[in-house]
Amino acid sequence: MGPTQQTGRHGAAASETVFFGSESGRRPSCEPLMGNESVARPPPTLRADQHAFFLDVDGTLIEYAQQPNAVTVDAALLELLERLALCSGGALALVSGRSIASLDALLAPLELPASGLHGFERRSSSGVYTQHARPSRRALTVARQLMAQLAKMDARLAFEDKGYALALHFRQVPYLEAAILEALKRVTDLTDGELQLQSGTMSIELTPRGVSKATAIAEFMREPPFRGRRPLCLGDAANDEAGFEWVNAAGGLSVAVNITGTTAARAHLRSVSAARAWLHGLSAGPG
Ligand SMILES: [Mg+2]
Repeated sequence: MGPTQQTGRHGAAASETVFFGSESGRRPSCEPLMGNESVARPPPTLRADQHAFFLDVDGTLIEYAQQPNAVTVDAALLELLERLALCSGGALALVSGRSIASLDALLAPLELPASGLHGFERRSSSGVYTQHARPSRRALTVARQLMAQLAKMDARLAFEDKGYALALHFRQVPYLEAAILEALKRVTDLTDGELQLQSGTMSIELTPRGVSKATAIAEFMREPPFRGRRPLCLGDAANDEAGFEWVNAAGGLSVAVNITGTTAARAHLRSVSAARAWLHGLSAGPG
């Protein structure tokens, strides 16, 4: 089923200035900036004005914290995103497991085109907010109760209720991953497949079935200013692999950030700071 258009706080801003959101008076330019960290096995230098950027956030643009709500965003990241959005003609979208509301709170005052909850919700470049089919209340209630019970088994587990996606974080007890995965597989069975598993970095989530970061990128790519450009996807986790595969098939470039295992990504950057340095180096001019 395709997404349904909705109104609400995320659909309110429809002007192009929403990309930049700031009235601070800063004047971002398209001149390349020098990063302060060399990058290992970097992707090639690209022209920002010929690409569409699909960027994961946690673990890709910002470092993880012990808890998702404990991450910090520095002014340099806001400046980087603002500049890249400008240099790419607005063809930059955040593609995250966070909700769009969470992304907006994290990156305020920026309100960029974004997909939240692993493809479930999306805000287009014109500010139109859409959601895919919601899981039933029964499925969400069952999953919510079982995951909350699971989280109580160890105080170092953290249950994150995102509304239409539910995450269990095991950053402090990584050896529990296999047991959690097995338990959550049984939960998906109990929801008649209305929820699907999404593995992240030190987390596993249940998200609405049938959507992913790949479906979100495909939806953006059907619309201006993304349409007709070469897609570029940066991510750091298993839940980014669908996006990597989609951009590979579309002739784009997939870039893994600090992924040490098997990945479909065609290029690799070794850290968040390396990813940011590489993005800083892109210019609107020939590269
Ligand atoms: Mg990530």
